[in-house]
Amino acid sequence: MHKPELTLVGAGLVGALLATLLAQRGFRVTVFERRPDPRQAGFVGGRSINLALAERGWHGLRTARLQQRLQPIAVMMRGRMVHALDGATNLQRYGRDDSEVIWSVNRGSLNIALLDAAEEAGAQIHFGQRLDHVDWNDERLHFVDDASGARREHVAAHVLGTDGAGSALRTAMATQIDLGERFEPLGHSYKELEIPALPDFDPAALPPALRSARERGERFAMEPNALHIWPRGGYMCIALPNAEGSFTVTLFLPNAGDPSFATLTDAAAVRAFFARDFADAVPLMPGYVEDFFGNPTGMLGTLYLERWHLDQRALLLGDAAHAIVPFHGQGMNCGFEDAVELAGLLKHGTADLADVFAQFQQRRKPNADAIAAMAVENYVEMRDRVDDADFLLMRALERELAARHPGRFVPRYWMVTFSRLPYATAFARGEVQAGILREATRGKRSLAEVDLGAADALVRERLQPLEP
Ligand SMILES: Cc1cc2nc3c(=O)[nH]c(=O)nc-3n(C[C@H](O)[C@H](O)[C@H](O)COP(=O)(O)OP(=O)(O)OC[C@H]3O[C@@H](n4cnc5c(N)ncnc54)[C@H](O)[C@@H]3O)c2cc1C
Repeated sequence: MHKPELTLVGAGLVGALLATLLAQRGFRVTVFERRPDPRQAGFVGGRSINLALAERGWHGLRTARLQQRLQPIAVMMRGRMVHALDGATNLQRYGRDDSEVIWSVNRGSLNIALLDAAEEAGAQIHFGQRLDHVDWNDERLHFVDDASGARREHVAAHVLGTDGAGSALRTAMATQIDLGERFEPLGHSYKELEIPALPDFDPAALPPALRSARERGERFAMEPNALHIWPRGGYMCIALPNAEGSFTVTLFLPNAGDPSFATLTDAAAVRAFFARDFADAVPLMPGYVEDFFGNPTGMLGTLYLERWHLDQRALLLGDAAHAIVPFHGQGMNCGFEDAVELAGLLKHGTADLADVFAQFQQRRKPNADAIAAMAVENYVEMRDRVDDADFLLMRALERELAARHPGRFVPRYWMVTFSRLPYATAFARGEVQAGILREATRGKRSLAEVDLGAADALVRERLQPLEP
């Protein structure tokens, strides 16, 4: 079978996995990455320090035979630990048991493991090479080394763009065709803060219970096996555990209004805001004011494109094609699915790459659109609803119906997170299920009041069993 050389731009999470999969399948793979090699220079993130890895992501890693290498650095998260304003906490399990969980992984460690794997499989990666522009007529990519200013060219008949949300390849493609690009800003941004590992605390600054935990050799200042959420209506904080004992905290907040990034302009305002809204977290974040002003404010939004490829010459994948907001923890997971899908399509022949690229877009775009919509919806759920009585009743009924109708009524979160059902299917079935839950719980205050027989009938009437 003809196996053309494939050139990738961007060796982030999706690019490094795709390079691994393609090289493992015998393609000659050349990758150009803007940043220096993180194995020598240290990882320069610019994005979230850790990420939630779910079934779709694990499937990508398993396909590349990397699960065993990565499992030891992943921290299990069984559910949401909801922190109320008064400091009370409540764990809402994500799934039925510990087989239905998500995992927190460090972005740098994951990226480095993927780069190692790509090179072991035979991919050639050139670091410090930023794509500047493309001469489409003579199939020439132009790169700049930002550290030295050196320029370099590379001739490539087929380019895969895994260069993230601000993709330079996308800009270059847009000089040739209208990609139908649209960016919808969320109007909210994020800021990363840190809860250090217990051994890194000054013991005198710790509350007595945590001081004893530290003395016992414990590493985590909060429950490690959970994704912590402080829902506060229009905004929220979340925290994901890191394997060495710290937590990365992310504040999501509107850009304008009160409170917002526009009002938190000095240390006194930041302290007052955290003391009011996140009082139980403040003693755990000794450096939060410095972090707030030292760390960048990250912008959030959704990128939609109508076209992801330029005939057989170029294809966009991952965030370069469909950046989404992070509230379902699925951006990377979705990008890993892209990588598996493209590697699978290329297995069936590469004679007509334009056709392969078109098929890829046809199969993936409805799913990317669906997870984009669900991710925005999940922001409202996380920041505003997880502590509502009606929300909790609907979740309780959802679990009940899932137990009564296995394979037919499957909560949307489970379909997105624990399965590899197409996102578009999860979205469509989720809408039907939400209608059933709304109808069955209308005017009810507890599960005991719900007419389960009537709910069963709605399930049977409106939902076909899922294919096994
Ligand atoms: C706050 C936050 C939290 C998130 N949490 C999660 C989560 O929990 N779970 C999840 O699944 N997803 C999460 N995501 C989404 C996830 O980060 C992205 O979907 C994922 O990083 C996309 O991978 P990528 O390889 O497509 O792009 P990127 O990770 O952005 O990688 C792009 C690569 O291309 C390189 N590059 C850029 N421009 C050029 C150029 N001109 N030339 C050469 N190289 C270039 C970059 O240096 C980088 O290495 C989160 C995102 C954010 C912002």
